[in-house]
Amino acid sequence: MVTLDEKLEPLYAQVVRRNAGEDEFHQAVKEVFESLGAVIAKRPDYAEDGLIERICEPERQVIFRVPWTDDRGQVHINRGFRVEFSSALGPYKGGLRFHPSVYLGIIKFLGFEQVFKNALTGMPIGGAKGGSDFDPKGRSDAEIMRFCQSFMTELYRHLGEHTDVPAGDIGVGQREIGYMFGQYKRITNRYEAGVLTGKALAYGGSQVRTEATGYGSVFFVREMLRTRSADFDGKKVVVSGSGNVAIYTIEKIQELGGKVIACSDSDGYVVDEGGIDLALLKDIKERRRGRVADYAEALGSTATYVPQGCIWDVPCDIAMPSATQNELNGRDARVLVENGVMAVGEGANMPCTPDAMRIFTDAGVLFGPAKAVNAGGVATSALEMQQNASRDSWTFEATEERLASIMRGIHDRCSETAEEYGAPGNYVVGANIAGFIRVAEAMRALGVI
Ligand code: NAP
Repeated sequence: MVTLDEKLEPLYAQVVRRNAGEDEFHQAVKEVFESLGAVIAKRPDYAEDGLIERICEPERQVIFRVPWTDDRGQVHINRGFRVEFSSALGPYKGGLRFHPSVYLGIIKFLGFEQVFKNALTGMPIGGAKGGSDFDPKGRSDAEIMRFCQSFMTELYRHLGEHTDVPAGDIGVGQREIGYMFGQYKRITNRYEAGVLTGKALAYGGSQVRTEATGYGSVFFVREMLRTRSADFDGKKVVVSGSGNVAIYTIEKIQELGGKVIACSDSDGYVVDEGGIDLALLKDIKERRRGRVADYAEALGSTATYVPQGCIWDVPCDIAMPSATQNELNGRDARVLVENGVMAVGEGANMPCTPDAMRIFTDAGVLFGPAKAVNAGGVATSALEMQQNASRDSWTFEATEERLASIMRGIHDRCSETAEEYGAPGNYVVGANIAGFIRVAEAMRALGVI
């Protein structure tokens, strides 16, 4: 257990008290606070003017009703959220998640993380997150469209290209962004392309945005491996999930010579020792909206499907949890370490529990935290905003090169900051401190607001 700095202890107690029952939010705040002791020791001024208290309190939280009608004419009511956490560095920016597990505590943990992540990119974007407890699974296209339209009918009044710019997350991809952009345009009578990112190329999207979070995660892990004179070539990799982040993580690893041998969804995981057949996986997940069980079935005896099991039992050199929060716990981390894992990169947000993170760090495993590793998605969203503002569109190659260079920059910033604050090689400390300092400096410059 890391103990909190004595100045931070009461602030953390206050966060827990004021945000009762929001466990994931508490977890995210605690992780950052565990890193901030070193900053307060060196720069006590950062504990003044309520800076840290302010950073934990969202600037604005919106909760709203989302009524919609299913294909049989039955009315459903969901709850919508947008937590605008910080606009110190730029317009609020962060994705929308549609998943039945969504409640205020999930959106707040994601929004809080987003503030630091966006700061780490070095780009002019604040932090926010939103979504709904709507479950898109099994819903028809028409139902998804009606839901998205109803959601946007309330949310639009809080958005704007200079105010708040959402993107996708779990359950929200290009299709949903399209329906929401269409409704925004219709209500406002404005073609404001920069109000949403993750758009299709046909109407203002950016090359590489679809691939960005996965590719960026792999670029970050490649930089970590370089510090030990290693690379992806010939490495066995396990990637959890099989959604947007997982698929493009797998794609880039394969391009770099690594072999991804397992992926999953919430029903189970599949092991394919010959290496995941990405074309088949994409066809099943992106076109047919199927399950990884369908992948195993299509391949017959060459792939093994394990219903419900734990994907982290599969021995690998590199693990990339890319599904959801707290999907890799202390037991899983111990198994991975025993099996010789050398690097872990968090593609999902907060996928490793605090004890899992400690086990990796103590064992000397290269550990890349989500804030840094998966920041390529939002960074490319910021590139999409740049292209929209200048009514320009860049090539795939040029955009991917920008992404790779941004990820190198984030890696180096984390690494140098960790070193400066006495924790060389600790990317968690580096990411938290570097992100915090950038936001705190901007907040101080803007006065007490
Ligand atoms: P997605 O396309 O909706 O895919 C999510 C994947 O995770 C699905 O395969 C889903 O399986 C699986 N999953 C969800 N809960 C699971 C569980 N409990 N156990 C195993 N698998 C589970 O979402 P995504 O965009 O890839 O997002 C994945 C993660 O990356 C999230 O943590 C998200 O916040 C983070 N992230 C995304 C972006 C982005 O640009 N999209 C950027 C930064 C971070 P089912 O189909 O069974 O639900």
